[in-house]
Amino acid sequence: MAKNWYPVIDYSKCAGCLSCANFCPHGVYTIKDGKPVVTNPLECVEFCRGCQKLCDYGAITYSAEVKTHG
Ligand code: SF4
Ligand code: SF4
Repeated sequence: MAKNWYPVIDYSKCAGCLSCANFCPHGVYTIKDGKPVVTNPLECVEFCRGCQKLCDYGAITYSAEVKTHG
């Protein structure tokens, strides 16, 4: 379980190939309207980058890497 490590999808880059959602063995993603949605972030394994490695579009970053405002 990871409180501060889960994928964040940039939908402006995501092509909807669903490689990430189909790969993740921990059920982090749910597919909605043909796009991956991170619905179970607590199931993500800390420092796993499995789905990111499969994304050919650079659409996946991780929560710990996302800069917040302020
Ligand atoms: S692997 Fe990348 S492009 Fe494919 S659905 Fe996931 S985020 Fe989108
Ligand atoms: S980083 Fe690993 S555990 Fe987390 S969503 Fe991607 S494949 Fe699943």
